[in-house]
Amino acid sequence: MDRLKQLLSSIDGKGYKAYKQLEGDYFFPDFTLRIDHVQGDPFADPSRCRLFINYDKVQPPHDLYTLHQRKIALQDFLGRSFTKAIGEHVQGDRGSGRSGQMHIVQYGQQVLERNALLVSDSGIEVRIQLALPANKRTIVAKQALIMLLDELPKVVQDGLAPLINDIPTVKQFVDTVANQQYLRQQLTANKLVCFIADDSLLPRRSGVDDRPLSNGIVTKAPDSLAITLEQIDGTSVRGLGIKKGITLVVGGGFHGKSTLLQAIELGVYNHIMGDGRERVVTLDSAVKIRAEDRRSICNVDISPFISDLPQGKKTTHFSTQDASGSTSQAANIIEALSTWSQLLLVDEDTSATNFMIRDERMQALVAKDKEPITPLQQRITDLRDENQVSVILVMGGSGDFFSCADTVLMMDSYQIRDVTEQAKTLAKPLITSQITPQAITPSHQRYLDVTSLNPKSDFNKEKLQAIKTRILRYGRSEIDVSNISQLVDETQLNAIAYLLRYVFLHAETFNTDKNDINLVFKLLLDKVKRDGMDCLTPYVVGTLAMPRLYEVVATINRMRQLRLH
Ligand code: ADP
Ligand code: MG
Repeated sequence: MDRLKQLLSSIDGKGYKAYKQLEGDYFFPDFTLRIDHVQGDPFADPSRCRLFINYDKVQPPHDLYTLHQRKIALQDFLGRSFTKAIGEHVQGDRGSGRSGQMHIVQYGQQVLERNALLVSDSGIEVRIQLALPANKRTIVAKQALIMLLDELPKVVQDGLAPLINDIPTVKQFVDTVANQQYLRQQLTANKLVCFIADDSLLPRRSGVDDRPLSNGIVTKAPDSLAITLEQIDGTSVRGLGIKKGITLVVGGGFHGKSTLLQAIELGVYNHIMGDGRERVVTLDSAVKIRAEDRRSICNVDISPFISDLPQGKKTTHFSTQDASGSTSQAANIIEALSTWSQLLLVDEDTSATNFMIRDERMQALVAKDKEPITPLQQRITDLRDENQVSVILVMGGSGDFFSCADTVLMMDSYQIRDVTEQAKTLAKPLITSQITPQAITPSHQRYLDVTSLNPKSDFNKEKLQAIKTRILRYGRSEIDVSNISQLVDETQLNAIAYLLRYVFLHAETFNTDKNDINLVFKLLLDKVKRDGMDCLTPYVVGTLAMPRLYEVVATINRMRQLRLH
């Protein structure tokens, strides 16, 4: 600490570059501060620091971090605690540009595996980004002293406080997360794809605020569909069990159908205590399918849904820079199946009508040979019976799916009702053009031309920049990921960028010429799960969170410059 004080006073009033001398380790009474990298100027990305806290004064109970899933939860809890402490003790603005800012990562409603804060047997490591203060580009040592020697120790003290005086809350948080994992693990044995515990609160505050709506109506499973699962504490919990197969969600407009489906989509993640969805769990591999016109498609076999197009365009190796609603939705299904998804989620609000259904009158008017599309309605039983893939489908506008649905749920003023029997009596016999049932399998594998994953931009400098969950700037590409709805956090997109880079640099290891692109990234994710996310980056960062395989490949599939062999 003394050396830090001396150093700071010796560079006061000098040019910003003099801050570089700070890189190194400093010993504080309760922790070690390591300044890994000092930013170039006060407007640049903040400096990267780490805090190492050993267990001399405080140690979390062992059972909170021995199991992987519990450790992720504890790390998440502490990261939030430190973030809160930063909010309370760090003044923020201390000069030009970002001067004075201190930041870990932004925590949302999901609990993700991150590298922002790490708990191990030897201690706790916190990764902080901190903008060293300056007036224009002149160092203001007095402000830096306040940040590093006054604010920072207070942040550490308060960040750790729950471990000293509120272990029950920490434990409850960790248990809540572990419980979700436990519930999710019971799905398959119970032939379920999703479970929504009674008293879950699904609606959100707004389209841009993922926190729970305060006076929303909570769920209650109808008796006919209720199931009880065991919780981690040995108690049981009743809720709606959505079975494998085809589930249709119907109901009037504004009655909560899409809200239900969105909660199911995010049930692949664990949620924080108090979110309302902390006992809504879905199969890990569930993928939301939507129409996404204007996206690019690179060599995807969409022939199961779309046969020869005008001008003799083949669809077994379909590429376009400008997909239509139906071709994009078909490609989205094929790409999801290629990542071994077991559950597809479809909402009429974001689907192409001609991809979903074609009614009798339209079949009479437009001859089969003039319509390249085989709608989902005619292939959905193949998905279920031949692919063993389940589908949950929101469809308030047409009864055409009644005949193939195994379960029909009705949303009625935000209440879930079982209307399977009524729907069955109204169903018309299913007319399929497909004579023999057939699995939906792409005709070919897709082999990546790794040069398309070059992270270098025009200036021969690497460019990896996530902008929210909307855009990834990667090398020379700008990838629009805004329609990948289960990509929930910017830090996941950061990790995706580094996963792409890693495969570019280690193409031989992954046999990219002989392994399908999905397998390549599955192998890489397995490695990262074993070795930790730090193996991906050239220097230590704290801004990564684990994505799922689907989101990784989905990002690549949206690269306009993507090339395949
Ligand atoms: P639908 O898809 O059936 O048209 P939405 O799911 O879009 O309906 O929901 C319509 C509105 O109702 C949204 O503003 C949503 O936040 C709200 N809402 C949904 N579920 C609930 C609930 N359980 N309690 C209160 N409001 C809800
Ligand atoms: Mg809707």
